[in-house]
Amino acid sequence: DGRSLPGGILKVDNFINHQMDGDLMCSCAREMVRLFKPTGFNKILTVEASGIAPSIFAGYLAHVPVVFAKKATPRTLDDKFVTKVHSFTKDRDYDIIVSKEYLKPTDRILFVDDFLACGNAALGMLDLCRQAGAGLVGMSFLIEKAFQGGRAVIHAKCPGLPIESMAVITALGDGWIEFQTAN
Ligand code: 5GP
Repeated sequence: DGRSLPGGILKVDNFINHQMDGDLMCSCAREMVRLFKPTGFNKILTVEASGIAPSIFAGYLAHVPVVFAKKATPRTLDDKFVTKVHSFTKDRDYDIIVSKEYLKPTDRILFVDDFLACGNAALGMLDLCRQAGAGLVGMSFLIEKAFQGGRAVIHAKCPGLPIESMAVITALGDGWIEFQTAN
């Protein structure tokens, strides 16, 4: 159902980024929880806005809290971890913040997001976890655009970190989408 746009962008407004398909989100979340259960994750970290939907389903299913990193700093929040993230779709830098109250050294974090592209958002989350002294035990995405290299970028900083994507796209063209098929 996605539409391939120029610049390697996949538009999925009809089931993820604008209208949302709860059945699909819940199925993906169930699979994420199944895959990462052995890591003993005790918190899910995501970024507003589109990572929240799959994360809240996963948090519900795994009975763990979900924290979403914020893209704008609320005036009421003093004690926070801050990192800079380059936005792939908007081509600009953002400050991303999480309150120090919600990221602790005792946390075993599963990071969940809608897309893995170049890995910038993921590196930002890794930085926030490092600042907090929290453990990062895995990352999971609804859609990974494998041709943009995010997985290698993450593994360069975090060798061997488990990364699981529900759909992996190997190429996008004018009106076509190529998926990685299961081996
Ligand atoms: P990265 O930080 O890995 O380069 O990009 C991931 C972030 O950019 C995701 O949080 C997602 O919101 C956005 N993003 C990257 N590529 C796409 C895309 O093809 N379509 C949509 N809708 N969002 C994308």
